[in-house]
Amino acid sequence: MARIGFVGLGRMGAHMARNLLKAGHQVVVFDIVQAAVEPVVAAGATAAFSSAAAAQDADVVITMLPAGAEVRDAWLGQGGLAKASRADALLMDCSTIDVATAREVAAAAGRPFLDAPVSGGVVGAEAGTLTFMVGGDAEAVARAKPILEAMGRNVVHCGDAGAGQVAKLCNNMMLAATMAVTSEAFVMAERLGLPAQALFDVCSKSTAMSWALVGSCPVAGPVPTSAANRDFAPGFTAALMRKDLTLAQQAAKDAGVDAQVGALALSLFDRFVEGGGGGKDFSGIITMIRAGKAG
Ligand code: NAD
Repeated sequence: MARIGFVGLGRMGAHMARNLLKAGHQVVVFDIVQAAVEPVVAAGATAAFSSAAAAQDADVVITMLPAGAEVRDAWLGQGGLAKASRADALLMDCSTIDVATAREVAAAAGRPFLDAPVSGGVVGAEAGTLTFMVGGDAEAVARAKPILEAMGRNVVHCGDAGAGQVAKLCNNMMLAATMAVTSEAFVMAERLGLPAQALFDVCSKSTAMSWALVGSCPVAGPVPTSAANRDFAPGFTAALMRKDLTLAQQAAKDAGVDAQVGALALSLFDRFVEGGGGGKDFSGIITMIRAGKAG
């Protein structure tokens, strides 16, 4: 069993660290918020007094932080994890961040470093069913696999450093646009007298089928587990979707891609979040469309 340093015990990280403990690993944790550390220590982790201390002597070091600035600072800043960790330690970041920072940190770490962002949200983090999209050296990915499998169900090696973030941003750009247009279709059906269940029954078995429809249907009823049945309690928040769409636009721009549908999805989620929907599930975008505030 490995000794793992884990930094960032928020909504995702706390569950992921707990699943590493359940798998029998020794986990040393750090978060700048003490209240985030206590429940994970109660589950069996050891608290470190700094992120560098969590990395010392660890076989594996993992970060799960809000965004690129925190990730760069945690790995490369003063007292950073890259210097504090053992020369043979396996290093990985599971946060969703911009591709350029993921590549910069991997290059500056001076040894194999993986970007391993996740899909599956808080529910998947708790259940240990996350999907990991991994960028980096194949040998390091093979070493990481058993560790990632303690926190998730699928591990996909996407390519070199940054490829995991590219996959994550592409996935969420597709998901956001699909959810927005699925929501428009349900509102259009409502106004034209087509019952939501009938639209669902048709589209879930025809060419418009998508996870936005069958996994996260934006109207209550057809999919009992979807957030629409609980007043859009998240789930995956609209604020996080807006963050990922912003990163996706930045990546598209850097790559010279005119991602207009992604840009439109971002402008819809901007408006939804600015109107107070940031804490709602991203499928709550339908409430804005229903209210006619999309245009
Ligand atoms: P969160 O804000 O709940 O947790 C982040 C944690 O990092 C907080 O506890 C914070 O105190 C800690 N932190 C911040 N700076 C730190 C530092 N310098 N050192 C140590 N700790 C620090 O965020 P989250 O929802 O757990 O998400 C984490 C990452 O996972 C984000 O990049 C997010 O985009 C991504 N993600 C989240 C979800 C989701 O559903 N919540 C799904 C997929 C991916």
